[in-house]
Amino acid sequence: MLELEQVHTHYGAVQALCGVSMEVRKGEIVTLIGSNGAGKTTLMMTVCGAPRASSGRVLFDGQDITHRSTHEIMRLGLAIAPEGRRIFPGLTVLENLQMGGFFADRHVLEEDLERMFKLFPRLNQRAGQRAGTMSGGEQQMLAIGRALMSRPRLLLLDEPTLGLAPLVIAQIFDIIRTIRDDGVTVFLVEQNANKALQVADRGYVLETGRVVLADTGKNLLANDRVRMAYLGV
Ligand code: ATP
Repeated sequence: MLELEQVHTHYGAVQALCGVSMEVRKGEIVTLIGSNGAGKTTLMMTVCGAPRASSGRVLFDGQDITHRSTHEIMRLGLAIAPEGRRIFPGLTVLENLQMGGFFADRHVLEEDLERMFKLFPRLNQRAGQRAGTMSGGEQQMLAIGRALMSRPRLLLLDEPTLGLAPLVIAQIFDIIRTIRDDGVTVFLVEQNANKALQVADRGYVLETGRVVLADTGKNLLANDRVRMAYLGV
């Protein structure tokens, strides 16, 4: 569904990705782990076209999207809940979700809101609350819900559990499984390597802009290099 072929990405003179090749197949949960500054966010944002890859190719459903605008890429069926959530703090929960379904017609919008409130009962209870006053976990659920409102086929999640309490982290991973079971393919960037690899069908390890390991989630959890560098074992 998503393929990166020898992708290089630069910020001016800084090279953040150095020939990354990887893929996400339909129906999978794929996790990308790596330490701070490895290039995880850059990889995810390169898929979204901002920044653009300086060389290599990004393919979505076989179509070359390397030079497409972010807007065009999103319209093909891709959505992202970015790092730091980026919800609209002054708008209510309901308004944030409506923004996510901006292009949908009214009938579809109502149906999707109902679906989101079923997936995230907490958002239903808080529909009228200003998003900026919600807890970190609630805001993360809102960011995921807003991304799902565009009915994506592929959902990108950048560090969805960052800064959250263990109980909330467990809820977020349960939700990620449910989303996949509902037919949405998930590509996940996480520093919480243990939980993220447990939920993943496959995973990649990124170090200084390069993929250094690729395997099933299960095998990566058992890999000595991963255990020492990312699991603290
Ligand atoms: P973290 O887990 O800390 O978010 P990351 O793995 O997501 O890290 P990136 O944010 O992708 O890493 O950063 C990769 C490299 O690119 C880093 O060296 C970073 O300093 C650099 N970088 C990221 N964004 C920019 C930018 N806008 N301008 C210049 N350099 C950047």
